[in-house]
Amino acid sequence: MKPVAKRATPAAIAVLRQATALVPKRKKASDGLLPSKAHIAQNPNSDHNTGHAVDLTHDPHNGIDCSELFQKLQADKRVSYLIFNGLIWSKQRGTHEYTGPNKHVKHLHISIKEDCAKDTSPWFPWLEKPKASVAGMARYLADKAKRKPRKKDVPSHKEA
Ligand SMILES: [Zn+2]
Repeated sequence: MKPVAKRATPAAIAVLRQATALVPKRKKASDGLLPSKAHIAQNPNSDHNTGHAVDLTHDPHNGIDCSELFQKLQADKRVSYLIFNGLIWSKQRGTHEYTGPNKHVKHLHISIKEDCAKDTSPWFPWLEKPKASVAGMARYLADKAKRKPRKKDVPSHKEA
């Protein structure tokens, strides 16, 4: 059995923090870093025990779509393997059926390579909006608060 770490690695913590920063309303019910006692008993060699794994709740309604992440994160050099919805991916073996006891339908499991434990660079760069757009929205809202609404104040594009 792998010894259980006291803290998850910075790279694993960054997954959850960055997802929340990008999608503040996302559901977190199946998020996980370090394992529970039951999890350790069931899976004594899990990467969760060393803090090199993270579970991210599947919440496509709010923009955390784990089937999309399962595909996109295959390009991230920090990823050792991914598990979601009955499938496991690793660079060595590609995508194949996951036959473990938990099919992972409620969360994406990300295992992180040991030498990437401290790498907290963006995990979801495609979800990040350009800063100019955020600043523009803030200006628009400030202006709108000062004036009575007029037709031209309605933005032609959708921003959340
Ligand atoms: Zn997991």
